[in-house]
Amino acid sequence: MNLSSNNIRHLLTTSDPVAIDDLFEEASRTRDEVYGRNVFMRGLIEITNHCRNNCLYCGIRRSATVHRYRLSPEQILQCCAEGHRLGFRTFVLQGGEDAWFTDEVLCRLLEDIKRRYPDCAVTLSLGERGRDSFRRLRDAGADRYLLRHETADADHYASLHPSEMSFDHRMQCLHDLRDLGFQVGAGFMVGSPGQTVDTLMKDLEFIQTFRPEMVGIGPFIPADGTPFEHERAGSVELTLRLLAIIRLLHPHVLLPATTALGTLHPTGRERAIMAGANVVMPNLSPQDTRTLYSIYNNKLSTGSEAAESAADLRLRLQAIGFDIPDTRGDYEK
Ligand code: SAM
Repeated sequence: MNLSSNNIRHLLTTSDPVAIDDLFEEASRTRDEVYGRNVFMRGLIEITNHCRNNCLYCGIRRSATVHRYRLSPEQILQCCAEGHRLGFRTFVLQGGEDAWFTDEVLCRLLEDIKRRYPDCAVTLSLGERGRDSFRRLRDAGADRYLLRHETADADHYASLHPSEMSFDHRMQCLHDLRDLGFQVGAGFMVGSPGQTVDTLMKDLEFIQTFRPEMVGIGPFIPADGTPFEHERAGSVELTLRLLAIIRLLHPHVLLPATTALGTLHPTGRERAIMAGANVVMPNLSPQDTRTLYSIYNNKLSTGSEAAESAADLRLRLQAIGFDIPDTRGDYEK
């Protein structure tokens, strides 16, 4: 497929259904050539909704009036035990930027997880930290780090974040993580307020040059109590096109069918896989905290989005011709 800038712009904006079907088919074929008909499963553990940041879009931003929780290391280990029993071989520890999770606490936790589950990968998604902190986490056993860049356009970044947050620092973190040997995940929301085709083109250029091992994209969904609560949600259709384009630009990338897609469309996850995605991240957090990690409205955490429904998820994916291997699902160079 022609992946010139002009053609990518065309694919992002066209209403020609044949061009879009061709795009999805080619992306799906490209994924099959690298990873086969496999979808990798990650167990998502939302370890805290405390956050020092005040991102304008996020439902757990510092000034949001949500009930705050944090899981204890023992609770997190229990989630891992349950996940391992259900067949998960990657645990993703995600949360707001919460100072309670010091390097010492996280390193001890990582060492415990790796000692108990040496066959598993651990992914962290805990926001921006210093290079020394990243180094300690890596040395303690963390394999991967997800830190969406949110947008590769510095002006757009400034319109989504308060002035104390810095685009340059976020990008620096991604470079530090790469230098330290993490498998790195970047990504962005689709349809965030002020986003244009031009800013999306910058995201795609960034992905082509930085070549993150993982790219997480999902539609923006408004969150009550945030400055963007009355903005429109991003488009499922545009998200699918972007997933397919990213697969074609970077065939080896690990590409999740995100919860946000499943929240906006009942078969959003399956459609994402048909468009080239190859990762799903069901929720392994304790049942009573799932609704508290409310980064946007009506976030799904039940049904096939719930880790305890892993068997059901396997059946849904088998129905569209995919297997879920019992492996870590690392990036294939
Ligand atoms: N604090 C960590 C960080 O900054 O990377 C991880 C947690 S943060 C809540 C995870 C991701 O949620 C963000 O990178 C952002 O893209 C996404 N997110 C936040 N609010 C959202 C919203 N309203 N709609 C869709 N995605 C959202």
